[in-house]
Amino acid sequence: AFEGLADRLQKTIQKVKGKGKVTEADVKEMTREVRLALLEADVNFKVVKDFIKRVKERAIGQEVMDSLTPGQQVIKVVKEELSDLMGGEQSKIAVANKPPTVIMMVGLQGAGKTTTTGKLANLLRKKNNRNPMLVAADVYRPAAINQLETLGKQLDMPVFSLGTEANPVDIAKQAIDKAKEEHHDYVIIDTAGRLHVDEQLMDELQNIKEVTTPDEIFLVVDSMTGQDAVNVAESFDEQLDISGVVLTKLDGDTRGGAAISIKAVTGKPIKYAGMGEKLDELEAFHPERMASRILGMGDVLSLIEKAQDNVDEKQAKELEEKMRSASFTFEDFLEQMQQVKNMGPLDELINMMPGANKMKGMKNLQVDEKQISHVEAIIQSMTKKERIDPGIMNASRKRRIAKGSGTSVSEVNRLLKQFDEMKKMMKQMTNTSKKGKKKKGLM
Ligand code: GDP
Ligand code: MG
Repeated sequence: AFEGLADRLQKTIQKVKGKGKVTEADVKEMTREVRLALLEADVNFKVVKDFIKRVKERAIGQEVMDSLTPGQQVIKVVKEELSDLMGGEQSKIAVANKPPTVIMMVGLQGAGKTTTTGKLANLLRKKNNRNPMLVAADVYRPAAINQLETLGKQLDMPVFSLGTEANPVDIAKQAIDKAKEEHHDYVIIDTAGRLHVDEQLMDELQNIKEVTTPDEIFLVVDSMTGQDAVNVAESFDEQLDISGVVLTKLDGDTRGGAAISIKAVTGKPIKYAGMGEKLDELEAFHPERMASRILGMGDVLSLIEKAQDNVDEKQAKELEEKMRSASFTFEDFLEQMQQVKNMGPLDELINMMPGANKMKGMKNLQVDEKQISHVEAIIQSMTKKERIDPGIMNASRKRRIAKGSGTSVSEVNRLLKQFDEMKKMMKQMTNTSKKGKKKKGLM
């Protein structure tokens, strides 16, 4: 997401970055380019106008002129204003005084309500140790109930449903009673959507709202729909007084207009962002980090959090031990690769690093996902014995592995050689550190 916008903004701010003096003309030129970039990214016209006005005022003001590094100060202004535009502080999910906390998911058909219901439950359990119950209140298509039930099975979480014959309002009401009985602390209600906002849908949602008095009403919107997403948000908010927005499909090549305009137009914060179809691909939305990502300053905090979520500490310790004792095998190698892969697509990770746009331009640093999957396939085609003791590898074994993995014998050879070198290096590293310790001990 945001690729076009990020590229343009980054080029623009590069121009002022190193300046020891920033004139009014410089500011004018920069804001003109920023304005065009935002409009191109489908940011609401009025939002752009107000934004540029604020940036200009601050950039021409004392704050910048008095600074020792005016160029950088201007960029700081742009980043702060962009972050404020998207909501400033990260906004947390509600917790009811008396459980369960009720969350109602609303939105148009296909926006991602059902998927997000599952993802949010998963996140609440993983990060906040909660015990949610899901509610199937979209009764118009049998497939909708099945879809939620499938997600419930995958997550091993209960899904409350009364089939397609029941009234969504009754379903929601009974679900909450059931959740109290079974001590669920969160109830997430998946509701029906339509292709367009219509009165019948709004009536139904208002009725559900009335009987369940939800602590949060999350509007799920598809970020790929740009300005439309903002219009949809406005009308849902008018009718239901939503408490927050979940922006889905931010992993796609959305231009970013919805993410940047929604808070400014509706006054309601973006609480979560959907970053893929999988159940662990929902993130809390941090406006400041997002602004930093868009301006190419990286998002190191999110990167660290991702690593912490995905790398098991115990496994990491065991791995270190194996490296020290030089008993590191292809089995361990495979495990390690899978941990990195769990963190998400590599180019997405690179996007979170400072200077990402420059890095992507360098050929050598381009990550070849295909090559990585080849390595994985080769290791997977080895027998357990071969993985632990690659010394037994002979020509016929190599041919079998190449065939099984859809690669070639030369690729298998290359991996074996690389692995051998890696092991040698590990040995050297662990030996020197041992020697180092000994020396210190003697002194
Ligand atoms: P609903 O009609 O609002 O309940 O929408 P669904 O939850 O059924 O989602 C519609 C489609 O969007 C499904 O194919 C989902 O897998 C997909 N989807 C939902 N969220 C995301 C997301 O964050 N990223 C991507 N790439 N796809 C998503
Ligand atoms: Mg649905």
